[in-house]
Amino acid sequence: SNTLHIVGGGMAGSEAAWQAAHMGVEVVLHEMRPKVETFAHRTGDLAEMVCSNSFRSDDDEQNAVGLLHWEMRAANGLIMQMADRHRLPAGGALAVDRDPFAQSVTAALTSHPNISVSYEEITALPENGHWIIATGPLTSDALSRAIAAETGAEALAFFDAIAPIVYFDSIDMSRAWMQSRYDKGDTEEERTAYLNCPMDKAQYEAFIDALLAADKTEFREGETAQYFDGCLPIEVMAERGRETLRHGPMKPVGLTNPHAPDVKPWAVVQLRRDNALGTLYNIVGFQTKMKYGAQADVLRMIPGLEQAQFARLGGIHRNTFLNSPTLLTADMRLRSRPHIRFAGQITGVEGYVESAAMGLLAGRLAAAEILGRSLPEVPQDSAMGALIHHITGGAEAKTFQPMNVNFGLFRPVDGLKGGRRGRRDRYKAYTDRAKEAWQGWLSHSSLDGTQSS
Ligand code: FAD
Repeated sequence: SNTLHIVGGGMAGSEAAWQAAHMGVEVVLHEMRPKVETFAHRTGDLAEMVCSNSFRSDDDEQNAVGLLHWEMRAANGLIMQMADRHRLPAGGALAVDRDPFAQSVTAALTSHPNISVSYEEITALPENGHWIIATGPLTSDALSRAIAAETGAEALAFFDAIAPIVYFDSIDMSRAWMQSRYDKGDTEEERTAYLNCPMDKAQYEAFIDALLAADKTEFREGETAQYFDGCLPIEVMAERGRETLRHGPMKPVGLTNPHAPDVKPWAVVQLRRDNALGTLYNIVGFQTKMKYGAQADVLRMIPGLEQAQFARLGGIHRNTFLNSPTLLTADMRLRSRPHIRFAGQITGVEGYVESAAMGLLAGRLAAAEILGRSLPEVPQDSAMGALIHHITGGAEAKTFQPMNVNFGLFRPVDGLKGGRRGRRDRYKAYTDRAKEAWQGWLSHSSLDGTQSS
C-alpha cells in the first residue's frame, strides 16, 4: 500500500511524519508510550525531551548545530517551529519549554488529516510496506532483539562509549607526532591513522591525580544493565591502580617520538583518525563519565592537547544504535531490507536536533519514493548532508560511535587562514556554503512536484 508507517514518535519520528504528511502521503505513526514506558520518558506526549531542555546554539553562522536549526526551519520543520514557539530566554542557545513544546508537536500531528497515531509497541521487523524505524536510544527490548537478529548482534550497540574527539587543527604538532604502533601500515592513509602525545613520569602522575579528582556524572537508575559489557571509563581504570592506564590505553610501546628520539616516554596518549577527511581525531580508549568542564580541563593536560578544541567530549550512555556505515545506504535504507529506513538517534547521530534532522530527511525520502519522485542527492556541503554522509559512509565503521553535527564533518573550504581569527572566517564560509547548498536542494525537491521527475 501507499501508507508510510513510522515506528517511534520521538524527535525523529515526529518530524518524519510531519514532512511526509505535508507532501501528501498517508502516515501511521506507531508509538509505544504511554502503554510501554522507558526509563527516561515521563509522559505519553510525542517528541518528549528526555533530559536537558536545550537545542544548543542557535548561531547559524558560527555553529554547526545552529546551522542545522537554520536548515530545518528552511524546510518547514515541525520540531523547529514548535521549539521557536516555546522558546525560553537563554542567551545564544535555544532553550525550550519542554511540556508545551511536546504538547504542541502532539497536537499538530494528531490533528493533521494525513496522520493517524497508533499507540502500540512494534516488536518485529515488518515484511513489506514502507517503513521508517525511529525508536531512538531506548528502543524497546523486543524490537531491539528483532533488529539484532537481522543485522547481527555486533552491528547493534546498546551503549555508546564515546572517546573524546579533537579537531586536528587544534593539536600542537610540535609536541605530538603521527605514527602507528610498530610502524604498521604502508600507505599514507595508514601512516596518518594515528597521532601520539607523549608524557613523562611527572606529567603522568599529575594526570592520574586529576582523573581521580575530577567531577563525574552518575549513571541513572535502569541505565547500567549491560554497562560492564562495554568499555570501562578511564577514571574507573585509574581507580583500579595508578599503573593500569600505562599498561592499557596509554601504553608507550612501539613508538618513537621524533621530537625527542632518545627519551622514552613514560606513557603515550594515542589518537586515531576519526573520519576520512582527517579533520577529526578520537582519543582512543578515553571513554569517560567526567563532567564536560572537568573533562576538557583534564584532557588539556595532555602534551600536545593544551589548546585542544573538542568536536565532542567523551561519555558513556545507554544508547541503542546501528553500525550505520555498514548497514545503511546513503538514502537511509537498511541494505538487507530496503523497504525499511532508519532515522534518528538509532542511526548513530546524537542529540535532539540531529535526531530530528535525520527524521526530516527520512520522511522526505520515504514520501518521495511513495509518490514516485526521485530527489537529488542530499548535498554534502549542507549540515544535513555532512551528517548523513558521515554516518552512512564517511565514518570509520570499525570504531563507529554516535556523532553530533560539527564543522569537522564538513569538506574544507580552500584558501582560508588558520588560527583563531581564521576559524571565524572558516565557519562563516562553511555556513554560507551550506545554506546555499541546502536551499538548492530544497528548491529542486520542492513539494509541489514541478521540479521533480
Ligand atoms: P526518541 O526521542 O527517544 O524517540 C523514540 C520513540 O520511540 C520514543 O517515543 C519511544 O517511546 C518509541 N519507541 C521505542 N521503541 C518502540 C517500539 N518498539 N514501538 C513503538 N515505539 C517505540 N539529547 C540531547 O540533545 N540532550 C540531552 O540532554 C539528552 N539527554 C539524554 C538523556 C538520556 C537518558 C537519553 C537516553 C538520551 C538523551 N539524549 C539527549 C538523546 C536523546 O534521546 C535524543 O537526542 C533524541 O530524543 C533522540 O530522538 P529519537 O527520535 O531518535 O528518539
